[in-house]
Amino acid sequence: MSETTTVRPQRASTIDQWDFEADVVIAGYGIAGVCAAIEAARAGAEVLVLERTGGWGGAASMSGGFIYLGGGTPLQKALGFEDSPENMEKFMVTALGPGVDKAKVHDYCQGSVEHFNWLVAQGVPFKEEFWGEPGWEPAHDEGLMYSGGENAAPFSGIATPAPRGHLPQMQNKRTGEKGGGYMLMKPLAETAEGLGVRAEYDIRIQSLVVDDSDDAGRVVGVVAKRYGKQVTVRARRGVVLATGSFAYNQEMIEAYVPRLLNRPAASIEQHDGIGILLGQSLGAQVAHMDAAEVAFFADPQMVARGVIVNARGQRFINEDTYCGRVGQATLNTQDNQAYLIIDEQALEAAHATESATKFFRLEPPKWTGETVAELESEMGLPEGALQATVEVYNRFAAEGTDPLLGRRAEWTKPLGAPLAGFDLREHTGGFTTGGLKTDLDSRVLHVSGEPIAGLFAAGRCTSGVCAGGYASGTSLGDGSFYGRRAGQAAAAIQD
Ligand SMILES: Cc1cc2nc3c(=O)[nH]c(=O)nc-3n(C[C@H](O)[C@H](O)[C@H](O)COP(=O)(O)OP(=O)(O)OC[C@H]3O[C@@H](n4cnc5c(N)ncnc54)[C@H](O)[C@@H]3O)c2cc1C
Repeated sequence: MSETTTVRPQRASTIDQWDFEADVVIAGYGIAGVCAAIEAARAGAEVLVLERTGGWGGAASMSGGFIYLGGGTPLQKALGFEDSPENMEKFMVTALGPGVDKAKVHDYCQGSVEHFNWLVAQGVPFKEEFWGEPGWEPAHDEGLMYSGGENAAPFSGIATPAPRGHLPQMQNKRTGEKGGGYMLMKPLAETAEGLGVRAEYDIRIQSLVVDDSDDAGRVVGVVAKRYGKQVTVRARRGVVLATGSFAYNQEMIEAYVPRLLNRPAASIEQHDGIGILLGQSLGAQVAHMDAAEVAFFADPQMVARGVIVNARGQRFINEDTYCGRVGQATLNTQDNQAYLIIDEQALEAAHATESATKFFRLEPPKWTGETVAELESEMGLPEGALQATVEVYNRFAAEGTDPLLGRRAEWTKPLGAPLAGFDLREHTGGFTTGGLKTDLDSRVLHVSGEPIAGLFAAGRCTSGVCAGGYASGTSLGDGSFYGRRAGQAAAAIQD
């Protein structure tokens, strides 16, 4: 067979020798891949994982480790929080939309407690402690936190607030390098190894192999590259794509999420969209290709105590919500223009708190003013614009209300003086959440709506529970949940 770098499918009849062979072949050894591997091996399949880098982990092992779970998990219960699958579903349908895959969200919420118990059974540790401060992550190794704005407007009025950000316990974490995600991946990778899952590293899949003697055009393997040489891998039962998002594919970002151009974050270079392209090469459907998680590079302890305004000096989001929502609103609706206005007292109060992301504290402020008028003029905002915003905000804040955006009383205090202005323009980045459309068994769906025989996918190369919105933990959440399903379904195929 000739050397290839194409994503076009290869015909099995052109391959005279397979370099590797297994029942289930999984591409990518991150969160979706490891969960698929465990379940496929438990179902009795011989499993081979192909990983592009030199070891297991992916973005998952660098991540903060939030797993979005609820419906009454033992951790929620132990910490005194009431939740139900129905309540969780109400939140997710609204907060992660518009346009969520309702069947998937329903299925995910119904299975969430079982999934938590499964993670614990694989050795993932959760500390029975709640972190209730604003933050991107808990400051220490606490196991539970609000991670999607559940307790803030508008969602607190739609579903009963419950924290669902479940975090594996990790001491001495290093944000962005080795956090809770490492303590999620480590026991899972060890479990997979214990079950006899084989892994081949430094091997990069490039195309799918289809059975040209079969009408269904079943996927029966992959072609990969290792150290510049082509490698062929036969999958007797099925192939699982678990190669991550397209955050680092410039062409795809330009085509689908242009606002995210040149600002990948919470992702790794290996997320080049290959899984999506390979599915598309066989006619797969995609969904929500314009959707993205958006991080806001600011300390939530400061954001919750200040006022965020746009280039016209107007507020546009309740500042006490999940900071990812502030990021999405800034990038998607304000042209990435935002400023934080905060008074000295609130700034000192924020600085006195603990935070896992203190490096986002951005000292010193770019502008200062003894009065709002002076700050407004220093910032070059149209005369009266910021003054009008603060006047309205302060008038209601004096009574602890925010009729414009619904900020909670505990975070709603009038701004005093002196004041500081922080420049938060271009302070966003993120990763894509759209991808291959899959069913509840993680089968990749053809544009006709039928599953593509022999092809499964999970994780960020698929469209999971998020459509437009995002909550921290939904990526590791649906990646692990539907990774398991992919492994089970692929292993169940009769070879
Ligand atoms: C700093 C940081 C913090 C984050 N915090 C959170 C959080 O708290 N909660 C949350 O839900 N999400 C978080 N995320 C995002 C989350 O880690 C990812 O979205 C998630 O890991 C996606 O799962 P996945 O299995 O699709 O991809 P990954 O876990 O990245 O696994 C994909 C694997 O596929 C491999 N691969 C890619 N291409 C190929 C190829 N051609 N052949 C073979 N292998 C290939 C990659 O090398 C990688 O190992 C964070 C990410 C980062 C970086």
